[in-house]
Amino acid sequence: MESVDTPPGSASSPGFDDLGLRPDALAAVAALGFETPTPIQLAAIPPLLEGRDLIGGARTGSGKTAAFGLPLLAHVHGAAPGVKALVLTPTRELALQVTEALRSFAVGQSLRIAAVYGGASYRPQLDALRAGAPVVVGTPGRLIDLLERGALKLAGVSFVVLDEADEMLRMGFLDAVEQLLTAIPDSRQVALFSATMPSAIRRVASRYLNDPIVLQIDGGAGNATDHIEQRAYRAPIRFKIDALVRILQGEERDAVLVFCRTKRGCQQATDELVSLGIAAEALHGDLSQRERERVVDGLRRRRIEVVIATDVAARGIDVEHITHVVNLELPDSPDVYTHRIGRTGRAGREGVAISLIAPQEDRHFRFMRSRLKAEFLVGRVPSDADIA
Ligand code: AMP
Repeated sequence: MESVDTPPGSASSPGFDDLGLRPDALAAVAALGFETPTPIQLAAIPPLLEGRDLIGGARTGSGKTAAFGLPLLAHVHGAAPGVKALVLTPTRELALQVTEALRSFAVGQSLRIAAVYGGASYRPQLDALRAGAPVVVGTPGRLIDLLERGALKLAGVSFVVLDEADEMLRMGFLDAVEQLLTAIPDSRQVALFSATMPSAIRRVASRYLNDPIVLQIDGGAGNATDHIEQRAYRAPIRFKIDALVRILQGEERDAVLVFCRTKRGCQQATDELVSLGIAAEALHGDLSQRERERVVDGLRRRRIEVVIATDVAARGIDVEHITHVVNLELPDSPDVYTHRIGRTGRAGREGVAISLIAPQEDRHFRFMRSRLKAEFLVGRVPSDADIA
């Protein structure tokens, strides 16, 4: 393996038109308002365009979707019908986001991109595959299903992306990922992105990637939260919702994502906020896929200000104007915490993460803080005077 340093982000660093992209890709990027490539884009796009395999240690928010998406679209340009590029994502939310991003990069081209994921009916997905979509974005479980039904043909695939590989591992998809990789001809090009590099992911990389370029952006997961101000507020359990309301009233903010451990907790907090006239909605596993999409879309279009979610339902949410993440309850693991707070501070912005800690959670908080090695500002919930 070969390592490449991150190019410096100075004013004299290269622009999108130095990366070897096609004119239509440059036009799409300009239309999206991307002025300069992010470090992962600078470092990953040229080797991917040359056909190299690649391992990208990059967090969400780094611009990794364009880093693989623009080369992917160049790869399938003018291809005959049939699957040529496959993107694996851990969740349907991320599958939809990647699909949407790819469509925005391919604007003006009549390129079919099929999104396939569980928890949704098969019919439209089967139709999209039958229509010969050259690009398929999907979750491993549903892709295996479709492969086994004979609806997904992988013999023509020559470009594969594993997006958020560590998250796929965490969700138990590693066998499915390997099964899919085994079904794809060896001559394919593979790009693997992962915020962290657990040994199981390194093993997949050494088994399925061919002499990859290795990029580590921003020191990887270590610095992933530097741009997020992390605070801890003391709040007894029965005052937590009151504390949340005070935070919503007292903070200079835009959209807010609140995390609860349980569906019931989500619903209770949501009902409370709605009764106070706050545009809040719950996001949890009892909602249908369509309802969940409606909630995320409402947040994106600013119809909804506050979403109160469980971890599973909120995975992969990418809404740039989320200024605050509030942990009504801390999660069990530091990884989940990091994933939660990464929903703010997107696209180069700053973010705030506030965790409400009840006395009985203090020990757990201290454990998390030591594991996270993060700087927490310990503060208090805004008072009436602060809010006024
Ligand atoms: P990603 O890490 O791919 O999820 O991208 C995070 C966010 O950054 C998305 O909302 C992108 O639209 C945005 N983005 C990606 N590349 C750029 C860029 N070069 N300039 C500005 N914004 C970007």
